[in-house]
Amino acid sequence: MNAVAEGFRHNYCYQCGACVADCPANIYSGSFNPRLILLKAILGFEDELIRTDSEIWDCTNCYTCSERCPQDVRPIDVIIALKNLCMLQGVSPEMVGKVSDSVYKSGITTKITSLVEKRRKMYGLESLKECPVDELTAMFEDE
Ligand code: SF4
Ligand code: SF4
Repeated sequence: MNAVAEGFRHNYCYQCGACVADCPANIYSGSFNPRLILLKAILGFEDELIRTDSEIWDCTNCYTCSERCPQDVRPIDVIIALKNLCMLQGVSPEMVGKVSDSVYKSGITTKITSLVEKRRKMYGLESLKECPVDELTAMFEDE
């Protein structure tokens, strides 16, 4: 588990806010702000970020911020490193543990129910196939 944002790109953040513009978590919540997360991380306010109720958990890992950043800061790398730090310190929301456990055991984040299958059919989507769990487990164990 990588709890370090590799390289020094995050130090080049000049707080322009381009990463906020199309961030879906910002659009949805109105308060989540990757620019401020970068600022707190750079200034060493990790005690505000590494906690169960930290705002970082609202990030969807969509990578839009990294595509928008003119400085190639890759804000999502910093947020993922912070999430990993939280996991290593045992401070994450209960739901994150449940989802991780589900991915580890079945390769999927949520249970495939008959209702899910019915809806997929309704939208013309194929049935979900079983995940190669052995391959996933091997990958996790290599980490
Ligand atoms: S991370 Fe990039 S886009 Fe976001 S505020 Fe810093 S420089 Fe601007
Ligand atoms: S990866 Fe997270 S911070 Fe970046 S745009 Fe997506 S939701 Fe926002």
